This record gives sequence, C-alpha cells and structure tokens, in this order.
Amino acid sequence: MSLISRSSDEIRAVHDEARDRYGELRAAGLKLDLTRGKPSAEQLGLAEQLLGLPTGHDDEDGTDCRNYGGIRGALAIRRIYADLLGIPVENVIAGNNASLEMMYDNLAFAMLHGAPGSERPWAREEKLRFLCPVPGYDRHFAITEHLGFEMIPVRMREDGPDMDAVAALVAEDPTIKGIWCVPTYSNPTGAVYSEEVTRRLMSMPTAAPDFRVMWDNAYVVHILGDTFPQVYDVLGIAAEAGNPDRPLIFTSTSKITFAGSGVAIHAASAANLDWFTHHLGIATIGPNKVNHLAHAEFFADADGVRAHMVRHRDSLAPKFARVLEILDNRLGEYEIADWTRPEGGYFISMDVLPGTATRVVELAREAGVALTAAGAAFPLGVDPADENIRLAPSLPPLAEVEAAMDGVATCVLLAATEKLLADA
Ligand code: PLP
Repeated sequence: MSLISRSSDEIRAVHDEARDRYGELRAAGLKLDLTRGKPSAEQLGLAEQLLGLPTGHDDEDGTDCRNYGGIRGALAIRRIYADLLGIPVENVIAGNNASLEMMYDNLAFAMLHGAPGSERPWAREEKLRFLCPVPGYDRHFAITEHLGFEMIPVRMREDGPDMDAVAALVAEDPTIKGIWCVPTYSNPTGAVYSEEVTRRLMSMPTAAPDFRVMWDNAYVVHILGDTFPQVYDVLGIAAEAGNPDRPLIFTSTSKITFAGSGVAIHAASAANLDWFTHHLGIATIGPNKVNHLAHAEFFADADGVRAHMVRHRDSLAPKFARVLEILDNRLGEYEIADWTRPEGGYFISMDVLPGTATRVVELAREAGVALTAAGAAFPLGVDPADENIRLAPSLPPLAEVEAAMDGVATCVLLAATEKLLADA
C-alpha cells in the first residue's frame, strides 16, 4: 500500500526506521559523488590507444592536418559521423572538443548577426523566448539564460516533449526562436523521441521565420542494451517540409573517447553551415584536425564507433542495473517516488514526493553523498514541484554507486516521512 494512504502510526514506524538508518549512514563518513555524467576512469581507459595516434598527418584528400586551415574539420572524421548520423558528408563539420561550444556559438552568432531567415540580429528583437523541455539538460538552459532568453518549460514525455503544447506555442509567438532537444536517451529522463514527435518538430508551422530546433544527439550511440537506436534523417524531413534550415544537429565523442579532448560534430543545411563557418572563421583559423585524424584512425569507421560503445555498455550497464535494483528494493513498496528506466545515455531521473527534493539532496549531502542540486534540470534551477533529482551513476566504481544509492533511498524515505508527518 502507498505510504501516503497509511495511518500516522505506520508512517511514523517507517520514519523511525529511516531515521535510524540515516544515523548509521552519517556515522559511516562516506564521500561519494553522483552529480555529473562523467565517464569513469575505466571507460576513459577504453580509448587509451588514442594517446599514440595519429600515426600520420594527412587527411583523406591529402591535406596536411598539422597546418592551419580547414574550418570544417578533417574529412576522415566527418565521413565517419556522416555515416553514423545518416547525413551527407557535406552537411557535417567537425570542431574542437565541445559540442556545447558549437551550440553556444550558433546562438551567439544569431544574436549578433541574425541567422539564415532572420529579419535582424536576434539581439535587436524586443523579446526572445526559447522552449525548454523539462526535466532537461542544465547546461542547455544555462546557455539560453546567459544570452537573455526567457525560457518556457514544456513537459517532457516518454516519446519527447508535449507536442500539442509546443506546436500551439510556436504557431502563435514569433519571439520563440527555438527549442532544446536531446532526441536519444534524453538527459536526464532517457526518453527517446518518436518518429511522430520528430516529424512534427521539423514540420510544424512557426511564427518565427528563423525558428531553430537544437537537435543535440549527444547520446546517439550510447546504449545500455543490445540494439542501437533509430537515427532519423531530420535534415531530410525538415527540407521536405519546407524548413531546411530548422534543425541544428550536434553530437560529440566526449562520452565515447575522452570527455575533455574528444571531437565535436555539427550538422545542418548548406546555408546554415556556410553562415556558421563564415562567422566561426573570424574567431579561429581552424579546429584541431590532428585530433580528428587520431579519432578517425582509432574508430576506422562507423561500425568501429558502435563496437567501442558496446565496450562502454559493458562497463556502464551493471551500474544502472544496480541503481534500479536498489530503488526497487528500498522504495518500490512505498509508492512515494518514480524513476526512469533508461535504455541508454547517462542518467536516471527520479521524482520523489513533491516538496521534498531539496530536502533529499540536503540530507544526502550531510551524509557525504553529493547529488545534483534539486531543480538543476529546470530553467533557472527552479523545479516548481520540488520533486526531481537527476542521478548520474557513471563515474564512481560499482561498490560506491551501491553505497551511494542505498544512502539516497534512505534520504528519500526520511524526507517523505518527515513531510507526511508534518502535513498530517
Ligand atoms: N549534450 C548533452 C545532452 C549532454 O548531456 C552533455 C554532457 O553531459 C553535452 C551535450 C556535452 O557535450 P560536449 O562535451 O560535446 O560539449
């Protein structure tokens, strides 16, 4: 029976047991961290060979990658990603190590200069808004916050954002310039956008002529199970619908090779890439093409990337399985929390009893378990229901993930019973 419908005496009994366990937890003096989705040392080690690559310096077309130039990046790595994403190589460019930087630059250039289809630089518009599916990725929201957008939250469902809400908003409001999307194994819920949602996003009428879908496919090959997800040809779908410049596609090798020195990838229409590289070419003479060659040699081809992701899966999947097992065992019977069961990506999203997420994070911190701040997955860090917590089990070794999650379950129960007793 749900804890909420139990008698005060029964709730108090659960509370007292949770309080005792919490005392033991604090006494254990843990120092554990489930905050950020970083690859573990074991995962980084899977790409150790990269440190000795590349063995040559010429790109496929003979370009000497040691020299200046080549704003679109080395052909060898662009070709592998064109293949993985099902996009013509002319529509794919490779940057430095952070796809986040390419997202930021796209929006910053639009602010300063306007994008293809814009009537004026975005910064000269009276008002700018951006749609933010929630819960979502805090660093996306940080970019639009930093650039001065008003962020409008829309609910995330299992197959992508609430499209009725999205379509209604963008049809009426020309100040809405775009939407953040993580279409595969979304951060943090693990949702995978359906074909229908994908088609609607690319084809829906928008009041803004220069509306952009920030299609951040960061986890496109990051499986936890046996099969790789479907990759939709969003450039083709958008072009067919008469919106060729709408999707801006991003991904990177950050959680494939080295998170701090991988390769960022951006794909878009010819008009968008000409515009982007024109402005980028003022800021830099070109990206690190030697690293592009190193990655191309390491992977060999798109199948090489997939084979490598199977090795990551073997390291990550046991951690995710254990987190789910602990949540099921410790919290399942009380029905006071829900959590996602992702088939890929880096996160589990947990909703605790409304009004207790901040308290759970505080209790965990005081017991030495660092969790992402409550509300982090919402624009401006504000979760109106104070219920969402993002769990990131990749970085610590399995034994630490287990200890941390057992502690988190205790904190969830303690916070919930505290609130239920106070409200009674
Ligand atoms: N996009 C999403 C959805 C992420 O979760 C992350 C990292 O957690 C990034 C982008 C960062 O990518 P990059 O390292 O290429 O900047």
